[in-house]
Amino acid sequence: MDPNKLNHANQPTQGKLIRTKPRSADSRPQARPRTEGWTQLTGPDGRPTLQFASPRVTQPPKHLADMTLAEREAAIVELGLPKFRAKQLSTHYFAHYTADVSKMTDLPKDRRAELGETFFSPLLTEVNRLVTDDGATIKFLWRLFDGALVESVLMRYPGRITLCVSSQCGCGMNCPFCATGQAGLTRNMSTAEILDQVVQANRVIAEGGLGRAREAGDGAEPERVNNIVFMGMGEPLANYTRVMNAVHRMVAPAPEGLGMSARGITVSTVGLAP
Ligand code: SF4
Repeated sequence: MDPNKLNHANQPTQGKLIRTKPRSADSRPQARPRTEGWTQLTGPDGRPTLQFASPRVTQPPKHLADMTLAEREAAIVELGLPKFRAKQLSTHYFAHYTADVSKMTDLPKDRRAELGETFFSPLLTEVNRLVTDDGATIKFLWRLFDGALVESVLMRYPGRITLCVSSQCGCGMNCPFCATGQAGLTRNMSTAEILDQVVQANRVIAEGGLGRAREAGDGAEPERVNNIVFMGMGEPLANYTRVMNAVHRMVAPAPEGLGMSARGITVSTVGLAP
């Protein structure tokens, strides 16, 4: 088979591979982690094997961050509460970075537990935190509701705070230089699981956990993540709908979302076109 032709058996079901110009395998030598004893899985034609089907299709229970503001209001009305409670809950989560209903003292005390169960199913549990660069870089390891593990990395740079987020548990793209690619794909992350990485990072920053904080001048906005790169675990465009919902919520003004600038959000891809 012509090595420059795409292997249709390996083509994604959610998009197509993009190749700008034919290149032979010899013209693009790749670094392989031989020291780890890994051999990249390849098909009969010698091309890397791609995995698009998730072995696990489970998703966490629906969370406030999975919903638009209108959907949150509808869910609140179903509970027999006035619509404005949806904005209060959203403000606590997206602006105060908490899902702990015991701290939401503006909510009726006798309904807080019910609201917590309805809107704040557990998403990320911190397993490990590695701090480097005098505290300016933090790598988090999170356990998801089904035991799957993902990472995100928080970095302070002059003039910006960047968070590198994961979009899938594992990855099926089989890039030869990448440890995540060796493990294969476990499942897609939910919209709320993607967003909770940002909310948890903002909480750490608000608590003073990220290195030396900027000197706050009069009227200065509190620091928070203002730059997001989808360069953690996973191929974002293989989880297109949930990733795009997460991006919409990142840029949606408070209290619907985080009110970030779209210019500060980068979705990177190995070349999947939705
Ligand atoms: S797409 Fe990204 S996460 Fe997936 S294998 Fe390639 S480098 Fe690793």
